[in-house]
Amino acid sequence: MFGQMMNFPLTIQSLVDHAARYHSQTRIVSVETTGGVEETSWGQVGANAHRLGDALTQLGLEPNARCATIAWNNRRHLEIYFGVSGAGLVCHTINPRLFPEQLVYIINHAEDRVLFIDRTFVPLIKAIRDKIPDVAHIVLMEGRDDELAGEIEGLQFYDELIETGSPDFEWPEFDEMTASSLCYTSGTTGHPKGVLYSHRSTVLHAFASNTQDCIGFSARDVVMPVVPMFHVNAWGTPYACAQVGASMVLPGPGLDGPSLVGLIDTSDVTIALGVPTIWQGLLGAAAQSGSELTSLTRTVVGGSACPPSMIATFRDTYGVEFIHAWGMTEMSPLGTSNQPLAKHLDLPLDEQYKLRENQGRPPWGVEMKIVDDEGQELPNDGEAQGDLLVRGPWVLSNYFRKSIEGTLTDGWFDTGDVATLNADGYLSIKDRSKDIIKSGGEWISSVDLENIALGHEKLADAAVIGARHEKWDERPVLIVVAAEGQSPSEAEVLSIFDGQIAKWQVPDKVVFTDVLPRNATGKVLKRNLRDTFGEVLIE
Ligand code: ADP
Repeated sequence: MFGQMMNFPLTIQSLVDHAARYHSQTRIVSVETTGGVEETSWGQVGANAHRLGDALTQLGLEPNARCATIAWNNRRHLEIYFGVSGAGLVCHTINPRLFPEQLVYIINHAEDRVLFIDRTFVPLIKAIRDKIPDVAHIVLMEGRDDELAGEIEGLQFYDELIETGSPDFEWPEFDEMTASSLCYTSGTTGHPKGVLYSHRSTVLHAFASNTQDCIGFSARDVVMPVVPMFHVNAWGTPYACAQVGASMVLPGPGLDGPSLVGLIDTSDVTIALGVPTIWQGLLGAAAQSGSELTSLTRTVVGGSACPPSMIATFRDTYGVEFIHAWGMTEMSPLGTSNQPLAKHLDLPLDEQYKLRENQGRPPWGVEMKIVDDEGQELPNDGEAQGDLLVRGPWVLSNYFRKSIEGTLTDGWFDTGDVATLNADGYLSIKDRSKDIIKSGGEWISSVDLENIALGHEKLADAAVIGARHEKWDERPVLIVVAAEGQSPSEAEVLSIFDGQIAKWQVPDKVVFTDVLPRNATGKVLKRNLRDTFGEVLIE
C-alpha cells in the first residue's frame, strides 16, 4: 500500500472551531449599532456560531439556502459569518449603500430566505418588504425590542433566535467545494453580478492572506477591519483572523476619522485594513487630535490606487508600515500585496520607498499575465501595458446563476484592469480598461495622474477622465476638489505635474467641483464624470 493523508475537507467551521478552542479568551471588541462597545471572545463567538447554526437548521432551511446580512462590522455579524456557512448555508452579505431597486434585485436574484439586519436598516427593509416575498425570516441583530417589533411584520430577534440552538450543535458534514458565501459586485454598469465563494476557496485564501509576505496576521495582533463586512467578506479578514486566533476590533457604524482614531488608541489595534478614502479621514483626525497611533504597526490599503503621499504620511509621521494590496470581488479578493524581496533591502531608502508604491506581487495561488488586444501575452518588463488576466483556486469561474460562456478566456479571468508586470511579478495598475485615456494612439494612465495630483497640498480630491478631443480623440481632464479654505488657480494645480511626467501627458484642463461622485464601495464613478465633463474640450 502507498501511504496516504486523510481526506480532510477545508471548511470555514474548522476556522472558528480552532479559534474557539485554542484562543478562547482572545478578545473581540465590537462597536454596537445601539451605541456602546461590547467585549466578547473567540470562545463566545464560536459557541454562538454553533447556536445559530442549530437554530437555522431547525428552521428547516434547505442546504445552500441563502441567508443575507445587511449589517455593520460587529460581533453578531461575525457569528453569522461562521454559523451560516458552518450549517451548510450561504452567507450573502449585502451592501446597504446600494439603491433600493438594486437591493430588491439582489435579494430576489439570490433567493434569500433569511435576512439579518442591523437596526439602521429597518426603514430600508420596511420600504421594500412587499417586493422581496421569498424572504421568510427577518432577524434584527440584537435582543428583543418591543418598539421595533411592530415595524416589520414577524420581525425576529437574533438573541432570541440563537437561544433556540445549542452550543454543542454538531456541524453537518459536506464537501469542501460547497458554497459558503455570496457577494455581488457593485455593478457600476448593468445589474450587479453574484460571486459565490466555496469553503475551500475561502480557507485557501485565508492561508495565503496569512503568509508573512502577504498580510500575515498572528495571535499577537489586534486586527481592525474598517473595510466593511459587506464588501468582499471584509477582504476575508474574519476567516484569516480565526485561522490564527488574532484579536479583532469591529468598528460598527461610525467610520469617521475621530471614531477610528479613538478605537485604535483605546483597543491597541496593531493592524487596520481599509480603502484610501476612509484612511484620508483617519489621518486628518489623527493630525487634529495629536494621536500618534502608537499601537498601529501596519495598515493594509486597497480597493483603489493609493496616493504615494498617503503611504509617506503613514511611514514618516506615524511609523506605520503601509501594505498596498490589489484585488477584486471575483478574486475573494486578494490578488497581490506589496512586500519587498531580499534584494530590495540593500537599495537606498528612497528607491525602496518607490518600490512599495505599486500594487505588489502575488502570493502562491494567484497566477497573472498581461495580454494585448489579440490576446497575445506581453513581456513582464515593467513597461508593456496590457489587459490583466488571472487564475487560481480563489478566482471566480462563473458568476452566480449566469451562463458560464464568455466568463473565462482559455481558463483565465479578465480583471478589466490595464496593468504592467515586472520580472518579479510586481503589478502596477494603470487603469480600469474602460477608464484609460487614449490620446492620439498613446495611452495615458488616469491613475498615475491622480496619484500626482493628490500630492498637491491645496487639493482634497482628484480624478482624471479622458475627455473627447477633435485632434487626439481623447485628452486628460483633471477634476478636483479644493482643500478646505483653498482656492488654487488652474496653473497652480497643473504646476504639480512639472518634471513628474512627460509634457504631453499633462491634463489639458482643470475643472473645479464640490465633490466627486462615488459608488457604493467608494470608487469614483468615472462614467458620471465623463457624462458631465466629457465634452469640455470640444468648442
Ligand atoms: P467593485 O464591486 O466596485 O467592482 P471590487 O472591489 O471588486 O469592487 O473592485 C475591483 C477593482 O478595484 C479592481 O479591478 C481594480 O480596478 C480596483 N482596485 C482594487 N484595488 C486596487 C489598488 N490597490 N490599486 C488600484 N486599483 C485597485
